[in-house]
Amino acid sequence: MTEREAWIRDNLNRVQARIAEAALRAGREPGDVRLVAVSKTATDEDVLAAWAAGQREFGENRPRAGAQKVLQVNRALDDATPLWHMIGHVQRRKTNVVVEHFDLVHAVDRRVFAEKLSRLVVDAGRTMPVLMECNVSGEASKYGYDANGWEQDAGVRDTIFAEVEAVLALPGMELQGLMTMAPIADDPEEVRPVFRSLRALLSALQERFPEVAWQHLSMGMTDDFEVAVEEGATLVRVGRAIFGPQ
Ligand SMILES: *Cc1c(COP(=O)(O)O)cnc(C)c1O
Repeated sequence: MTEREAWIRDNLNRVQARIAEAALRAGREPGDVRLVAVSKTATDEDVLAAWAAGQREFGENRPRAGAQKVLQVNRALDDATPLWHMIGHVQRRKTNVVVEHFDLVHAVDRRVFAEKLSRLVVDAGRTMPVLMECNVSGEASKYGYDANGWEQDAGVRDTIFAEVEAVLALPGMELQGLMTMAPIADDPEEVRPVFRSLRALLSALQERFPEVAWQHLSMGMTDDFEVAVEEGATLVRVGRAIFGPQ
């Protein structure tokens, strides 16, 4: 094992331990939180090192570069292959790449993309587990359905409900939950309300659409994943704490 391989393994163990501690603090089962190792800045060798250390789920944020990694990593492994998450914003013309190479889409963030994804998924004769990305913080730089202030503002809430209905009406889309990106903050406590609001939105949706198997809250990154786990995350997307900066 090279030094870097051992370093990645140790990083994974540390992140998993921190996830478990955060879950226990919140009275949750550590096994209910899945770590998505964000490999966008990692090399194929890094991903294979993480795989050798037991990591099975990886996230990429750019369709074409990500697909390249999926192909190369999957080719290097014979039998089992990772579960590949598309976690980033997808331009419509790259939807086919996502359908071809990815297992789960975190960032269904607008109607036109949902429709295109549905069409291509049906053409491919498959279904796609998807999450709807919600912009809870209201930051203009963030993608996602507007969910800023949904608890106070019935108009915002009703619009989200209508968008959920639209996704549910699309064939091939297996809606499993919500995703959000928290603002960058010096202190992760500052973003706790964002995670709490997303979780409350999931509860509201469970009540409004009980027929849907709502199960996932994709939230938390290197700087804030413990707070996200305390607030109910089931998928945390961690890059730098595993693979280092760029
Ligand atoms: C890069 C990225 C992450 C991981 O960020 P880190 O700070 O490296 O943990 C999570 N989610 C998305 C959508 C990303 O693009």
